[in-house]
Amino acid sequence: MLYTSTRQKLDNITATKAILQGISNEGGLFVPTNMPKMDFTIEELANWSYQEVAYRVMGLFFDEIKDEDLKYCIEHAYDDKFDTKEIAPLVHTKTGNFLELFHGPTIAFKDMALSILPYLMLTSKRYNGEEKDIVILTATSGDTGKAALEGFANVEGTKIIVFFPQDGVSDVQKQQMVTTEGDNTFVVGVKGNFDDCQTTVKEIFGDKEFAKELADKNYKFSSANSINIGRLIPQVAYYFAAYGKMVRDGKLKAGETMNVVVPTGNFGNILASYYAKQMGLPIGKMICASNSNKVLFDFFTSGTYDRNRAFFLTASPSMDILISSNLERLLYHISGESTETVNDLMASLKTEGKYTITDTMRENIKDFYGGYADDETTKAYIKKVFDEEGYLMDTHTAVAYAVYDKYIKETKDDTPTVIVSTASPYKFTHSVMTAVDEKYDGISDFELLDHMQKLIEGDMPKAMDHIATRKINHNTVCKVDEMKNMVSKFLV
Ligand SMILES: *Cc1c(COP(=O)(O)O)cnc(C)c1O
Repeated sequence: MLYTSTRQKLDNITATKAILQGISNEGGLFVPTNMPKMDFTIEELANWSYQEVAYRVMGLFFDEIKDEDLKYCIEHAYDDKFDTKEIAPLVHTKTGNFLELFHGPTIAFKDMALSILPYLMLTSKRYNGEEKDIVILTATSGDTGKAALEGFANVEGTKIIVFFPQDGVSDVQKQQMVTTEGDNTFVVGVKGNFDDCQTTVKEIFGDKEFAKELADKNYKFSSANSINIGRLIPQVAYYFAAYGKMVRDGKLKAGETMNVVVPTGNFGNILASYYAKQMGLPIGKMICASNSNKVLFDFFTSGTYDRNRAFFLTASPSMDILISSNLERLLYHISGESTETVNDLMASLKTEGKYTITDTMRENIKDFYGGYADDETTKAYIKKVFDEEGYLMDTHTAVAYAVYDKYIKETKDDTPTVIVSTASPYKFTHSVMTAVDEKYDGISDFELLDHMQKLIEGDMPKAMDHIATRKINHNTVCKVDEMKNMVSKFLV
């Protein structure tokens, strides 16, 4: 199993090299040269634990990693830092099947991949005789940052630098990041939005001179963003696990089609469902849900991706994105693996901020459905589902639910569907609680944690325990054009 780049044909990239490197030299993303096919039955799948599913699915992509090493990674990633043995439980309400991906240490779905990435990274280091310290450089719209910090804090041979938009994340998200411990962690607020952070991080990655400077100091960059194949592949596993659970719970017969609805930002999560489908899992429609930053909705409805538009800060900040990096991988697959096409489209995105795909490519994405919901609609659904079904969704999940409801009304498609639930409501207390009742307005995010716990009579997640009073370990703030300097300063 080898990997190549979306922008250049390569023939010698192993999985562990791709994981170590993060992004290809010419700026492309690593993709498998051919999609593995599932080599187990649905009946088997329905009986496996999450760890077994992960092992079988990831093993197909990472066949270079020895069985016992992969098992080690999986067992250490998906252990009791998750608050349920199921790891990714499927919760059925009257109207929805919610795949809850928020039971990890930072209570958002990024934990699914970032709890295993450090293990994959260390394994990759060892397999390639890499002796330099790995520097994880990451831009975050809120959730990746903390999940990466949790994963990499105090991991020997690594350092981690996280940039987040100073005014673009929730109070709880910010507090989670700036209270991170560990000598190898560095967290910086940026006066800019997520796209500014991500673009600059990509520039730093592409800066050959800077890389050489750092190599002399015994450092090598890698990425924990979802452009790293080591993040994408672990995410494929939970679509298989979800399918198995739908069968186990009698919601689906083995072999029947299942739809998925995915609240989408950088396009990593939903791309993993596309990979699962290509591998042979009976997935039908992949419903891509956006908030008011509906660049993907427009793309799926018109074939034109156009980032020239106003950027909105919404109640679902982890999806406030105008450049969905992982879409590049989809473009590669739907263009018949044409690096030329990808280069043209990406050049056009860079110079004009937009591109249009061909009719053939559009034909190849007909199983995607794009939808979006604004904040008002999203909040109305949070209230409705809580009042009528007693299930409290976070804002991101609620965007997915809103789009799902619209999809059903529009198409009358009654295929059993899994709604991918990407964050715990405890992570976005203000938006969620005021959606349920306006009386909660004016109360701080932190106090609302207790109100929420009373409202849903659940356990407070460990991640939120005493969050307000933890010691602040990071208070650096910088401008966008100072980000590179910050990196140099930390890596003395
Ligand atoms: C990151 C994130 C998303 C978006 O996922 P992508 O893989 O970037 O599309 C959605 N919801 C939450 C809560 C997230 O943290």
